[in-house]
Amino acid sequence: MVRHECRSVMNIKDFGERVRPLPEGWGPPCAALFDFDGTLSLIREGWTEILVKYSLEILDTTGTSETAEQLEAIVREFLMRQTGKPTRFQLIELAAAVRERGMEPLSPEVYEAEYQRRLAERVGRRREALRLGKTSPDCLLVPGTRNLLEQLRGYGVTLYLASGTEETAVVEEARLLGLTDFFEARIYGAEGTIPDFSKAKVIHEIILRRDTLDGRGLLGFGDGFVEIRDVVTAGGVAIAVASDEQRMIDAPESPSSINGWKRLRLIEAGAHHVIPDYCGIGNYIDSLFE
Ligand SMILES: [Mg+2]
Repeated sequence: MVRHECRSVMNIKDFGERVRPLPEGWGPPCAALFDFDGTLSLIREGWTEILVKYSLEILDTTGTSETAEQLEAIVREFLMRQTGKPTRFQLIELAAAVRERGMEPLSPEVYEAEYQRRLAERVGRRREALRLGKTSPDCLLVPGTRNLLEQLRGYGVTLYLASGTEETAVVEEARLLGLTDFFEARIYGAEGTIPDFSKAKVIHEIILRRDTLDGRGLLGFGDGFVEIRDVVTAGGVAIAVASDEQRMIDAPESPSSINGWKRLRLIEAGAHHVIPDYCGIGNYIDSLFE
């Protein structure tokens, strides 16, 4: 598999979609916070579809009169709102949706175990391929990731990784993708070193305390509602990666395209910029330091 070549030269004005101006007095960035799945890593590509399908199966058992299309729209909406929080929160929403339809749900833990079982097969296959060297890390990274991380590091920006996925899995998958050198010990996930993990906690208790003291030095990258909102709320600049992960996996030789559904939610969450991947972001990053 050969990834399409990132175009090396691109005008700043051609870079992504500028949604809103940068906040007054913001910059230059000294800390950058990255989400993991769908923002850097493609190892868990397909998790949304697995969770949507499973949720629809569960809701179907309630005997609701809603159509499949109506249910799918409801499920996608509540999953998206919780994306970025530990996975448990999405299954709490599912249990609530079952209860709203007049049926006593199973516990969110039971739902989560079944979802993780379904996801594990796919994730396990990709992790194994990386471990054995059958897949190159670049095939399971959002295009342009490594150049971007190198560029930010070159400017002295401290890089942080925070994910709603379990911390031990994020650490292992970052290692398999060759990202450990960039983030070192600054990798945070659910049920890890931070009790009651949330991205807001990482921003306020780790990053802002250590580095910038306020959001004027904070740059965030994510493909989920929660991380975009939390970065913006903290006074930072949020770059939304409305990544079409399935296309990146299925058609790696083609240029990335914007996932329109993600785009709308991420703009609503407060994103300053929307991009499909990191190809061509170099000049824009340079401009943040001028
Ligand atoms: Mg994500």
